Amino acid sequence: MRIADNHVVTIHYTVKTNDGEEIDSSVGQAPLSFIQGSHYMIAGLEEAIYDKQAGDKFTVNVPAEKAYGERLENLVQDVPSSMFEGMDVEVGMSFRATTDDGEQSVIIIDKTDDAVTVDGNHPLAGLSLIFDVSIEDVRTATEEELAHGHVHGPEGCTH
Ligand SMILES: [Zn+2]
Repeated sequence: MRIADNHVVTIHYTVKTNDGEEIDSSVGQAPLSFIQGSHYMIAGLEEAIYDKQAGDKFTVNVPAEKAYGERLENLVQDVPSSMFEGMDVEVGMSFRATTDDGEQSVIIIDKTDDAVTVDGNHPLAGLSLIFDVSIEDVRTATEEELAHGHVHGPEGCTH
């Protein structure tokens, strides 16, 4: 069965940066199941999976614009330290912030006595990602799964 839209695809994957640093992997854990064509996966990986079938193993290099997007420097902002009064602020901390574009996750990337620099880019923005993928299973999604927009396990809907 060649993978097409509305198939439930189960994969094992390992994702690395161009430098070979491993970011995430399903190997040794439960495999990942999703509905092809639902944009659950990043665009570059979803595109690469079309036409594959169970048992296929492949590596795909996904450029940033088809992964988590390019970095936007206007998402990096200096905020007066006074706004963090009473908080124990450290570089590397992340939190939800309300911005002009709605609520987003930001991470603190620098701080001085006067200002805290926050970055609203996705941590993987600007990176091309290398996926090692093994297609474990392919089946047609059920009507119920398509209506719900997610994959059901053997016990049905658990959401
Ligand atoms: Zn459901």
